[in-house]
Order: sequence, then C-alpha cells, then structure tokens
Amino acid sequence: ELEISLKVVIVGNGAVGKSSMIQRFCKGTYTRDYKKTIGVDFLERQIEVDAEDVRLMLWDTAGQEEFDAITAAYYRGAHACVLAYSATDRDSFDAIPSWKLKVENECGEIPTVLVQNKMDLIDQCVIDPEEAERLGRALGCKLLRTSVKEDVGVVGVFRHLASRCLHE
Ligand code: GDP
Ligand code: MG
Repeated sequence: ELEISLKVVIVGNGAVGKSSMIQRFCKGTYTRDYKKTIGVDFLERQIEVDAEDVRLMLWDTAGQEEFDAITAAYYRGAHACVLAYSATDRDSFDAIPSWKLKVENECGEIPTVLVQNKMDLIDQCVIDPEEAERLGRALGCKLLRTSVKEDVGVVGVFRHLASRCLHE
C-alpha cells in the first residue's frame, strides 16, 4: 500500500512554541526549557486520516527565525504550513502576514492553518478573539487554538492539514 508522506513547515516568531508543538505531537513530551534541539531537521509521526496512513514530517528551525535567516532548504517541497503565534505575544500576531508571504514566496499556495498557541495563559491573552478570526479570514486560513503545554488542540492542527492535503 502506498504511504503518503507530507512535509509540514512551522513558522512564526521565536518563543511562540513551534519546537514544543513538534515535540508534543511527535514524541508526546513537553518541557519548559526545551531549546532546540532535536539534532535533526525534522521529527515525524504517522497518523490515520480519512482511512489513509499519513506520515507527517514536521520541520523545525534552530532559532534562525529570530534572525530572519531561514534557508530555502527549510521550505523546499513543503506540502503544508502552520503559521504560529502566541496568545501572550502581540508582536508574534502582528508578524503573521509577513510569515505567510515568506512561505508563499517559497512554496506557492499550500494548505495553511493559523494557530494561536498558549491558550492556557488565558489571563495574559493580548489578542482579541475577533481580531484573530478576522486575520484568519483575511489570509484564507482556518484559525485553531492550542495549548501545547496542556496538550489541547495539537493533534487537531495536523489532522486538519493532512486532511486538506489528501483532498486537494
Ligand atoms: P519556538 O521558539 O517557537 O520554537 O518556541 P519553544 O517551543 O522553544 O517555546 C518557547 C517557550 O514557550 C518554552 O518555554 C515553552 O515551554 C513555552 N511554551 C510552548 N508552548 C506553550 C503553551 O502552550 N503554554 C505555555 N504556557 N507555554 C508554552
Ligand atoms: Mg524553536
């Protein structure tokens, strides 16, 4: 049987929880001091989506996003994208449109989801929910909310993208 493999890139400002999300989804672990590094370019996990076995390869960055220095190799061949920001970091939300453009420049139009992480810090949230919905609509991306820390919504992000890829 043919196995479907999808490369997923996860972009957004530093410290929004990208590496943690990859670690959570692929290994089921979470740590507050998780810095880098997986030592490899990506981690993977296989899930069943719409009765198909899908292998998701989640590509991490080693912090180059902070210097605007992500190389073309990172994006090359990506099938889907997570645009991530933190509920507690206004700059990370404001940076989303420019992240979307970078991905589009390298990959063209690929299935993309907008993810607001750190839902557990609800009392420190600095993003108005309607504003977030509006941004999702403007970018043509579904908005999903996660807490990588509490393991809420993470699997749903990747299920959504895999399903989109299967049906395009
Ligand atoms: P990256 O720079 O985008 O890869 O972000 P990291 O994955 O390194 O996470 C940055 C910090 O945010 C780390 O201390 C994480 O433990 C923390 N973090 C990640 N996700 C969550 C979350 O859902 N809730 C909270 N409270 N902290 C989180
Ligand atoms: Mg990271």
